[in-house]
Amino acid sequence: MSTSFVLGLVGEGISASLTPAMQEREGRESGLQVSYRIIDAGRLGLGADDLPALLDWAERLGFDGLNVTHPFKQAVLPLLDDLSDDAADLGAVNTVVFQDGRRLGRNTDWSGYGAAFRAALPDAVHDRAVVVGAGGAGVAVGYGLLDQGAEHVAVLDSDPERAEACAIRLAKRYGDDRVTPVTDLARALEGAQGVVNATPVGMHGHPGSSVAESLLRPDLWVSDVVYFPLDTELVRTARARGCRVVPGGGMAVHQAVGAFEYFTGREADADRMSQHFAELTRP
Ligand code: NAD
Repeated sequence: MSTSFVLGLVGEGISASLTPAMQEREGRESGLQVSYRIIDAGRLGLGADDLPALLDWAERLGFDGLNVTHPFKQAVLPLLDDLSDDAADLGAVNTVVFQDGRRLGRNTDWSGYGAAFRAALPDAVHDRAVVVGAGGAGVAVGYGLLDQGAEHVAVLDSDPERAEACAIRLAKRYGDDRVTPVTDLARALEGAQGVVNATPVGMHGHPGSSVAESLLRPDLWVSDVVYFPLDTELVRTARARGCRVVPGGGMAVHQAVGAFEYFTGREADADRMSQHFAELTRP
């Protein structure tokens, strides 16, 4: 079994990613040599058309795997030899493993969100939730919540067609009765115990909140997928209103836990990786 791994992250705007530090440290702690490189497509002037060549070169140069992020999670699908059922259902891959000349496509975003949510609010895994934002993160969050046992997920997007498409994707796996596309957030929240922001709103450069403060009842749990910064406007406001809060760092850590396990074939220590992430993000 190999003890040395060369890995990378392909995407745009990833220069500040904490994934390399998390993966390399977990490697060291596990007695492995892990080198994890940032391949910033924006800086290199690479687009989706360059992805086939990029994967070819990564394989030739001896990479063992790649994480793939925005805007390539869908574009990478036709370049793979094997797709897990969950990645096929989601229509997105964030982890590519190069193994015996084959490219295996996996998705640890949804499982990462589910694991992070269960770790943070174990008593809420059967709740009814509203997911705001029906892009890649929204589908992954919906999948993660339903997989953990959520009774129902309502999906809302400023583009109703995206909410519809996300709901259809989730319902295919979990059933029509557990997923509904919605357009009225206030009404949807009346029948829910929690809300997740899966839009980019709240990120550095995208100020604001996708959920108005007036909608944040103290008995609602509030989760955000944004983790640059960790204390988004939504997270801060929800805390101030007395809501239980699940910030975006947990998903970032647990998707890395899942990817580490796919890349190395070893179990990662999720608590240790969470602790390291907390050190890396401590103000
Ligand atoms: P995306 O562009 O694919 O989807 C975002 C969706 O949100 C779009 O459908 C858009 O129409 C919708 N939207 C935007 N503003 C809205 C608003 N105010 N109300 C309702 N809908 C709105 O983006 P994505 O890839 O899904 O990523 C979304 C965010 O999730 C990003 O900030 C990304 O960094 C974050 N993310 C975090 C993790 C993590 O590990 N924590 C993982 C993946 C993505």
